[in-house]
Amino acid sequence: MGVKERAPPNRACLDCGKMLDQASGLGHDRKPKPGDITICFGCGHIMAFAKDLSFRPLTDAEMIEIAGNPVIVKAQTLRAAIKRIDRRLNEPAK
Ligand SMILES: [Zn+2]
Repeated sequence: MGVKERAPPNRACLDCGKMLDQASGLGHDRKPKPGDITICFGCGHIMAFAKDLSFRPLTDAEMIEIAGNPVIVKAQTLRAAIKRIDRRLNEPAK
């Protein structure tokens, strides 16, 4: 899994509003392009890059196309695992 950090323009998640100023590719190391699917690291919301690389909601066809996509499932699983670890690290000491 080749993961590279890129810096698209600062954009906010369409669902939670988190500013997303980086993107990591799963299985490739190219910059995002219009139509690519992206997942908010904060809340897991799935969006697409618009022509200007802002975010736009998925079309109905895109939702059907990515449902069960193994790369999306892997990304969501990794995101959830990182969130669990992050919560544990930030728990108050007992
Ligand atoms: Zn979000």
